[in-house]
Amino acid sequence: MKLQNRIIAITGAGQGLGRAMAVHLAREGARIAVIDLNQDHMDETKAQVEAAGSSAATFTCNVADEAQVEQTFAAIVAEMGGLHGLINNAGILRDGLLVKAKDGEIKKMSLAQWQAVIDVNLTGVFLCGREAAAQMIQTGEGGCIINISSIARAGNFGQSNYSAAKAGVAAMAVTWAKELARYKIRANAIAPGFIATEMTAGMPPEALEKICKGIPAGRMGTPDEIGDTAVFLLLNDYMSGRVVEVDGGLRL
Ligand code: NAP
Repeated sequence: MKLQNRIIAITGAGQGLGRAMAVHLAREGARIAVIDLNQDHMDETKAQVEAAGSSAATFTCNVADEAQVEQTFAAIVAEMGGLHGLINNAGILRDGLLVKAKDGEIKKMSLAQWQAVIDVNLTGVFLCGREAAAQMIQTGEGGCIINISSIARAGNFGQSNYSAAKAGVAAMAVTWAKELARYKIRANAIAPGFIATEMTAGMPPEALEKICKGIPAGRMGTPDEIGDTAVFLLLNDYMSGRVVEVDGGLRL
């Protein structure tokens, strides 16, 4: 897909990887529908997209809320004139062990901790993917969906909720590639390793240091490296149903 004047929606684009992908796509001429919760953060992304030579519109939306997602994707098409791509990027962490025995007590991951991550990272991807696909089919121009998975999809210590959701979104990308090809819609996933964003900045420094020592590339990835990958997946019309790992060689 050529990106000049194409309309690409990115969830969680108010900061981090979402913002970096928005700027990279803008440099290729794409117009960005910025979806997030915080208006100030979205305004900053919009300014950076404009500085990169393109335009953006902002849409406040909780991706886990069905009515808000339906309304948002209808509004993107009505206000921006179409929809050619979606990057399902919004995500949260609520890490914890499944169970932990300490001093004779068993501490458990709460259902709320599980559900919060499943709601945003799995159900949010389902809802946005569904609404984007429906809009793309109606406009009849085809399109491309990218789900942001994670290296944690293989299963990661302290991340029952997050790993389950990230495995789910990788599987959905493969499923959608099969189901949506007849409408000329492709679907792929990106599975980043550890990338320097606000999300990883919130991790304990000693844990991060230990992780970095185990990365064959010798460092964390940069948001720009994920931005490059998103551009490649959107541009290449024969890429579909694949999970692209961008992790500096790390295996969990
Ligand atoms: P981030 O800096 O925390 O950004 C995530 C964005 O998503 C924030 O702007 C956040 O808004 C937004 N968001 C959260 N819940 C939302 C909701 N319910 N509806 C709409 N927007 C919501 O995270 P990041 O590091 O850029 O990560 C982006 C994606 O990459 C996530 O899916 C993450 O799991 C994945 N990933 C990241 C890494 C990494 O190393 N950074 C590695 C693998 C995968 P607020 O801040 O306003 O809540």
